[in-house]
Amino acid sequence: TSGRVPLMAGNWKMNLDHLQATHLVQKLDWTLRDAKHDYTAVEVAVLPPFTDLRSVQTLVEGDKLELRYGAQDLSPHASGAYTGDISGAFLAKLGCTYVAVGHSERREGHGETDAVVNAKVKAAYAHGLTPILCCGEALDVRKEGRQVEHVLDQLRADLDGVTKEQAASVVIAYEPIWAIGTGEVATPDDAQEVCAAIRTLLAELYSGDVADGIRLLYGGSVKAGNVAAIMAQEDVDGALVGGASIDPTEFASICRFRD
Ligand code: PEP
Repeated sequence: TSGRVPLMAGNWKMNLDHLQATHLVQKLDWTLRDAKHDYTAVEVAVLPPFTDLRSVQTLVEGDKLELRYGAQDLSPHASGAYTGDISGAFLAKLGCTYVAVGHSERREGHGETDAVVNAKVKAAYAHGLTPILCCGEALDVRKEGRQVEHVLDQLRADLDGVTKEQAASVVIAYEPIWAIGTGEVATPDDAQEVCAAIRTLLAELYSGDVADGIRLLYGGSVKAGNVAAIMAQEDVDGALVGGASIDPTEFASICRFRD
């Protein structure tokens, strides 16, 4: 990770109501405090459902927790006649640092194209949020050995028009779709292959310095038992954790991958 502060981000997906969210955040923070976790050495973030964000904000601000939080999606628009959508402005007001953009469950289940993902990335920046931009290939693409080409094509489109200053803060999550929620983990070499190619692309699009500072996460069935091997890869700077992030003990262990 050469100088990059690792980020462990928990994507709760559509799990935990606002009361359960409060319990999880408290338990996670207690567990990490017990372990004397240095949040500046390994950053920890949670991405709860929209309806939990206000409760998480109250807890984080009230108890001065060092935990960061964000949303799982946002509207490409700032406000207006978009029934059911949530603006980045609302998320910023709730103290969100991050917002996931282009998760495969949104690309697949909600027909989000790269053009939509690109508009959402720009909306995140417009509201001072840091996008966690998700990319990754389906199983058929992997079987054809086209994973690198596929992911780089996605990212070129998703980052179109994003400036160098903006890109300097982006977080990119490489999540092979066949490894999400399946228990099937990509090998550390698989994760490194694609993350290294992403970093090379970022150097081409922006600069070597910008590319060196950008955090690349791996996502796909990350657990306490497999995180260390993945984190040992040079170009992997953290994890986007789904299922294992709604168990505070397991997620805390993932955050403590150096123990
Ligand atoms: C995810 O939702 O981004 C994810 C990686 O899920 P899981 O860890 O459950 O595979």
